[in-house]
Amino acid sequence: MKTKSWLQCIIPSCAKTYDIIERRTTCNCGELLDVRYAGDFPKSLQETFSLRLNHSQNIFNESGVWRYRELLNFAQVDTENYFDYSKHLVSLDGAEGRTKPFHLTRVADYVGLKTSNFWLQFEGDNPTGSFKDNGMASAFTHARMVGAKKVVCASTGNTSSSAAAFAANELDMEAVILVGEGKIAKGKLAQSLAYGAKVLQVKGDFDVAMAMVQALSKESNIYVVNSLNSFRLEGQKTIMFRMLDYLHWEVPDWIVFPGGNLGNASAFGKAFIELYEYRWIKKKPRMAVIVADGAPTLSDLYNKHKLRWNRGSIENSIINEYYNEVDQLGIKANTRASAIEILKPVNLKKALRTLEFTDGIVTTVSDQAIMDAMAMVSKNGFGCEPASAATVAGTKKLVNQGLISADATVVGIATGHMLKDTTAIVDYHFNPKNKFANTPITVEPDVSQILKLANS
Ligand SMILES: *Cc1c(COP(=O)(O)O)cnc(C)c1O
Ligand SMILES: [Zn+2]
Repeated sequence: MKTKSWLQCIIPSCAKTYDIIERRTTCNCGELLDVRYAGDFPKSLQETFSLRLNHSQNIFNESGVWRYRELLNFAQVDTENYFDYSKHLVSLDGAEGRTKPFHLTRVADYVGLKTSNFWLQFEGDNPTGSFKDNGMASAFTHARMVGAKKVVCASTGNTSSSAAAFAANELDMEAVILVGEGKIAKGKLAQSLAYGAKVLQVKGDFDVAMAMVQALSKESNIYVVNSLNSFRLEGQKTIMFRMLDYLHWEVPDWIVFPGGNLGNASAFGKAFIELYEYRWIKKKPRMAVIVADGAPTLSDLYNKHKLRWNRGSIENSIINEYYNEVDQLGIKANTRASAIEILKPVNLKKALRTLEFTDGIVTTVSDQAIMDAMAMVSKNGFGCEPASAATVAGTKKLVNQGLISADATVVGIATGHMLKDTTAIVDYHFNPKNKFANTPITVEPDVSQILKLANS
């Protein structure tokens, strides 16, 4: 099955289109672009996807991204012809996107929902330990389409880990990574170094590094793999496809996830907008985007300043005034959840579109709430990094406030792996003041004393 695809400005009053093999991240008018499709998307594809679970060692059926290739066929391949699509689609040997939602009894209790109505989907189970691998498979596919040899990204650590791994696994591809100096968790820095990327520590934070990448994106030999790249978001749609597939395409009442650069907010919304258009679903889920107190842009703009998508007629002056004030006061993002420590999210407008389509809400959570929630996920035998725990802290807050009703069905997305930021975990548990602290006890090498402690 082949599809036709192109790039198109997200703002309906512009709607300018571009060829799919252009390497551009924005429209000439300066706004973001969407990957668009024309073709047949029959509901019977759901069965095709199920059959591919019996993958017969076909890595593009094993891949939780390419299993859904009909729904992101921007490479315009024949999705049933292995010899065609295997030449075009990039995969970490089928390893990306092999995730699913889980029931977590203790966490459900903690947030105030029934176990049977609550799931967490661990995107940290991806090969490089974060959801970014979903989008990197698709971005690298487009990079291959346009013949790119060098990818670049700004990163709080997970985008860089993922880009570095995909570059390492491709022939003839180099990754250049810009990170804010001292702003990246050790586990993430370790990965980027180990996979062999060129790591540039920019003096500044993520927002500064991102501004550098936006300037570099004008250079013809550099391919940007931040979520500013619309092709990243196509792969991230599959996070929703897997969730729905697992729930037999029954749409949950709520989907909750953290917001940083708002790539997921954009991709998740686009997934549902398309499925709705294709008439695969009738019900829209409501989406809740959780941001940190120390990086509250989306909440401030949406809740305080009432900024709306408004069918694409956005009041830009609200955004400009907000950013001017931030700049003038010298405000910087500041949260322990480093993956969402972002003050100027590049996908803001696409996120607003998602919020409108899904009647979504945005809320903030404190670092303390995030760290307690992270500890609780681990007390359930699972684990995630701080930014992912914003999902749990946010769900708890919204259930408490009655915004999410206690009998709602809720899927939370846990975006990154527990071992990405071990410093955050150890610091939490070494401080006995923390609610769920499990502080180690120092003891002499004395058997009777150890036995006493073991039995106490
Ligand atoms: C990148 C990242 C985020 C932020 O996601 P966006 O799509 O940029 O909003 C959240 N959590 C983790 C673990 C991440 O790596
Ligand atoms: Zn435009």
